[in-house]
Amino acid sequence: MRITITGTPGCGKTTVAKLLSELTGIPVFHLSNLIREKGFYTDYDEERDAYVTDVEKLTEFFKGKEKFIAEGLVAHYIPSDLCIILRVNPSELSKRLAGRGYSPSKISENVESERLAVTATEVFENPCAPRIAHIDTTNRTPEEVVQLILRCMRGEEIFDNVDWLEEQENSHQSTEHL
Ligand code: ADP
Ligand code: MG
Repeated sequence: MRITITGTPGCGKTTVAKLLSELTGIPVFHLSNLIREKGFYTDYDEERDAYVTDVEKLTEFFKGKEKFIAEGLVAHYIPSDLCIILRVNPSELSKRLAGRGYSPSKISENVESERLAVTATEVFENPCAPRIAHIDTTNRTPEEVVQLILRCMRGEEIFDNVDWLEEQENSHQSTEHL
């Protein structure tokens, strides 16, 4: 089975993909390493300290592979059987990224991206997999998230409803009422 795991930095892709690979024996590819090591990039963005992925070269690498777990920011561009989108509440994400030592500007860039569902929208608008799972990791352990992914792999549909914008609006409303 070909599985891709995508989401905003800090949503838990690497942690969950490693665990899933250990449990299933399916080889895991950490795309940020792969892209750097194999030179699958067109450019280096100094301001953002990130490589600009050469999506064509990346997808070419996975062509013909029947069993893999690919995790990373651009995983959803790789054709697969099942695409997993991990989500996390923006305030929880902010904590996770601060714990990782990210700069305040990098934290707010990623929190904003999660709040606006940038990656999830990309997947929905241009799906590269016949099946998509949408998992909220906020109040779950990585082990629990992996159990959900295993259920998806057995054919179950898992689609958590999250809307961080609405949640924020509600919390504003409740403050206004005080
Ligand atoms: P990513 O690869 O998406 O940037 P990581 O897996 O590197 O994310 O980091 C996510 C961080 O969040 C880790 O410190 C991990 O332990 C923590 N975390 C807490 N809860 C979860 C969860 N349910 N799923 C995944 N990661 C979680
Ligand atoms: Mg990672």
